[in-house]
Amino acid sequence: MIFHYGLRLLCLCLASFFLVNAAAGLTTAFASRGLLRMAETMRPRCAARLLFAARVLPWALGAGAVLALCVPSYLWLEPQASSEQIGWACLALALWGAAVCFGSVRRVARALAASVRFNRAWQQSGSETLLPGELSKAVIVKKDAPLLALVGVFRQRLVVSQTVLSSLSTEQLELALHHENAHRISRDNLKRLFLLLAPAPIPFLPGFSSLEKCWAQFSEWAADDEAVRGDSQRALSLAAAILRVARMGAAPSLSFLHTSLCAGDHDLSRRVDRLLRIQPVPAKPLSPARCLAIGSSLGIAVSIAVLLAWPATLSSVHRLLELLLR
Ligand SMILES: [Zn+2]
Repeated sequence: MIFHYGLRLLCLCLASFFLVNAAAGLTTAFASRGLLRMAETMRPRCAARLLFAARVLPWALGAGAVLALCVPSYLWLEPQASSEQIGWACLALALWGAAVCFGSVRRVARALAASVRFNRAWQQSGSETLLPGELSKAVIVKKDAPLLALVGVFRQRLVVSQTVLSSLSTEQLELALHHENAHRISRDNLKRLFLLLAPAPIPFLPGFSSLEKCWAQFSEWAADDEAVRGDSQRALSLAAAILRVARMGAAPSLSFLHTSLCAGDHDLSRRVDRLLRIQPVPAKPLSPARCLAIGSSLGIAVSIAVLLAWPATLSSVHRLLELLLR
């Protein structure tokens, strides 16, 4: 009895997640052109935040609907002795839901495994050094490959190859490190993990490649802006550092969870051109306290709204779930 009760709940959760993620994802995909046009008019950091939020919103709504509505309404209002069977439509949707969740877990597992493999190899072959102006030690690897990357999702650290260290001038190295530290402050590697975790609206169909590509581009521009701080001389030095590293040859392949100075940036010439020709807008320093205050206020407002409407909402959700089960 408990097994069937749990199985019905699992099917409902997967089916509900699939439906909400697909509906919100298709809506986002439909609106993505407008979002990209809007992002072009914004400062790079704001544009990157907008595109990231749009990309993970369907996944967040799907997960939120399951955790905040589907599970409580089922546990509260569905009698354990119920002998309702799972309908074919619900089963099919649950299988699609399982497929998208499995795809997400698989992508994350592969990227994490690659990240751990690279990190271990660098730790073994490199040595830890405190670079000038840095608060934490970087791993210096004795490699000819041009490598200057921020690695790690939760415990972030810099990995720099000896050849990059010896090729860049002191100012160029300082700016390149500032660029990577801007990625560190905005937690871009963690955002990359969420991008992998967030499934496409329909399994096996690419849904958000343009949003993700533009997010990566705006993240690079934002890190550039935060490194140069509106100073054209610093912009020139950073552009020279990027070009110098890019000309050292093919960068080593990295995990999707790593952020490097040049690798993976398919629009390097546009980025350098922007640094050379456009006066970068002075970037406001990131204010974690402000972000925390806005996030907490939103969280409290949503919690109050959900609590006020809780019983009525749960009964409506339960009626919908009953329809879905048939
Ligand atoms: Zn970067």
